[in-house]
Amino acid sequence: MTPGSEFKPSANVAQLRESATIAVSQKAKALKAAGREIIDLGAGEPDFDTPAFIKVAAQRAIDAGATKYTAVDGILPLREAIAAEANRAWKGSEKVTAAGVVVSTGSKQSLFNACFTLFGPGDEVLVPTPAWTSYYEMVSLARATAVPVTGNPDRGFKVSVAMLEAAATPRTKGLMLNSPSNPTGSVYSPDELRAILTLAHERGWWVLSDEIYLRIAYGKAATSSLDEAPSRDRLVVINGVAKAYAMTGWRIGWSITTPKLAAAMTAFQSHTTSNAATVSQHAALAALTMREDADAAVSSMVAQFEKRRDAALAILRTEPRINVLAPDGAFYLYLCAPGAGTTVDAGAAFAAHLLEKSGVAIVPGSAFYTPDWVRVSYAADQAQVEEAMRRLVAAFRDLV
Ligand code: GLU
Repeated sequence: MTPGSEFKPSANVAQLRESATIAVSQKAKALKAAGREIIDLGAGEPDFDTPAFIKVAAQRAIDAGATKYTAVDGILPLREAIAAEANRAWKGSEKVTAAGVVVSTGSKQSLFNACFTLFGPGDEVLVPTPAWTSYYEMVSLARATAVPVTGNPDRGFKVSVAMLEAAATPRTKGLMLNSPSNPTGSVYSPDELRAILTLAHERGWWVLSDEIYLRIAYGKAATSSLDEAPSRDRLVVINGVAKAYAMTGWRIGWSITTPKLAAAMTAFQSHTTSNAATVSQHAALAALTMREDADAAVSSMVAQFEKRRDAALAILRTEPRINVLAPDGAFYLYLCAPGAGTTVDAGAAFAAHLLEKSGVAIVPGSAFYTPDWVRVSYAADQAQVEEAMRRLVAAFRDLV
């Protein structure tokens, strides 16, 4: 290749913003490699190892020859296990079947498949905000328009029916839901969820419900849209093994929807990646079917996340000027940066200061369309989380 040869991105990606969550962790890794001592609370990645029973199942699958292509939408036992899980608490007649399940390379691909298959030019998609950075970009890559609907921080940024109604237009085609939420950790109650899903049903919107943090909830269990929707007709529920089972690198996610939409997403995936990695599908199958081992592993990890959350909150609350949301799920703390309301992109300034001066990596809230805020992941070693929170409080005090 000629050095300096010109490259002009196509119109498809000309406006694309790089993933800020990924960028922060890459930067933290680069600084560590350069010899700096960094506490990385950037990317939301559990520090736990994948539970041993899952690794053993994957090793056995390799030995048994699980090294070839599978069906594009995934191996049948895994799709059946996902469908069975989806029907567990459901009393209605519209049962999920394996034909409505598509297994993909991480829930990120499932979300992208759904956005690209459902939305297009002229469509608007409501995104309760703050929300995970990739929702906005995925909707844009489908050449639809993401419409941020910013919730009220006093309600953990959760949006109401009235807020969604106010943001809707005749072009509204879809709604992204995410409970427990990344980045706020807020969890919608069954009533709140039902009210929103009923509105979407009445308006004929597609709901993409990202439930990747569903099993990571504190106090009481989080509710799935599958169980609160008045109809499962225009619903796509996305989940995966990455967060609850500490399996980020295995890259297995899935979508649950109608067989018709599932077939269209499968056709799309057949031209992009084909099936998700075969051995990873077998690992996910173990995570979903070896229930006793899986439940014990998840409970143990969730209990440790909860301890870290409480320890981190206790330290942050020693500084009363820090406005931090108390999360009921996921593994993030969302807090208002010093200079919020007066400084442009206060969150980015605070995150940069913290990385530079205190060696702590966190994600600026601009990634989630709320630039006054910052996100801290506490899916890291507890002593490190506590040390990072002490440094954060000190930095906050320096800047206010
Ligand atoms: N979803 C995680 C996060 O928000 C992992 C990184 C990513 O894919 O964005 O940090």
